[in-house]
Amino acid sequence: EAVSRPPWLTQHIDTGAFARVERLLAGLKLHTVCQSASCPNIGECFGQGTATFLILGSVCTRRCAFCAVPKGAPAAPDTAEPERIAKAVQVLGLRHAVITSVTRDDLADGGASQFAACIERIRAVCPSVTVEVLTPDFAGNWRAAAQVLAACPDVFNHNIETVPRLYDKVRPSADYRRSLALLRQAAAGGVGLVKSGVMVGLGETETEVLAVFADLAAAGVTAVTIGQYLRPSAAHLPVAEYIHPDKFAWYEQQARRAGFTAVAAGPLVRSSYHAAAMAGHEGK
Ligand code: SF4
Ligand code: SF4
Repeated sequence: EAVSRPPWLTQHIDTGAFARVERLLAGLKLHTVCQSASCPNIGECFGQGTATFLILGSVCTRRCAFCAVPKGAPAAPDTAEPERIAKAVQVLGLRHAVITSVTRDDLADGGASQFAACIERIRAVCPSVTVEVLTPDFAGNWRAAAQVLAACPDVFNHNIETVPRLYDKVRPSADYRRSLALLRQAAAGGVGLVKSGVMVGLGETETEVLAVFADLAAAGVTAVTIGQYLRPSAAHLPVAEYIHPDKFAWYEQQARRAGFTAVAAGPLVRSSYHAAAMAGHEGK
């Protein structure tokens, strides 16, 4: 990388708890975005017995330049997956479950029915658990999005990821306005908490980030995460800048000023980092 990696990005791991979570996930044949996207917080999150489930397979039909999830032609959805997700939520003793997926542009509903089934199975097995879905954009299929909303997730999360000027470079198959429209639909659909996330360090300006905050707030988003982009491999976009923790503190302040009620900002913040706390829980 062109710039050297600063010390505030180093994490430590509780290996015992980590191995327990890894074994459980492998036993239930479940994927996590923690593993698939090489998340830098995996030690902390698995160490605390939390994880973000990645449904609908482990390969993605899109090719975002920042993302470590393998790309290719995915398999047909596994109809038994929602039951296994509910089982994992139960065994891990989660109070808040976060479910995300690869983007399934090959499926007519973009995988919406699988999201809905996961919410329903978790509700059936663990009725007190709150559920957060971190969805793709369903290629602008609002009926598909409505199917997820009809299952009443407690938190609807969709990442805007970056400023509109960088979309072509960072998320070539996505559309800034389309992502905003999806968030607006969730807010209008009565979801308790509508959440989004932005990566910084990709070459955006402060002014552009503040404009994204304003757009998200206008769409009805009330929770936002802001984290440092880290290059998963030499084949991915280089880091343009390592944003200093003080700048993250400033972004947090600005996000609160823009009207968000839940804000997480910091070098290692990810969309699902401390998700339970952002959803109002004290523990995992
Ligand atoms: Fe997984 Fe999210 Fe934690 Fe990363 S921050 S390890 S993706 S739960
Ligand atoms: Fe990664 Fe999501 Fe882009 Fe697929 S759509 S490459 S999972 S960020």
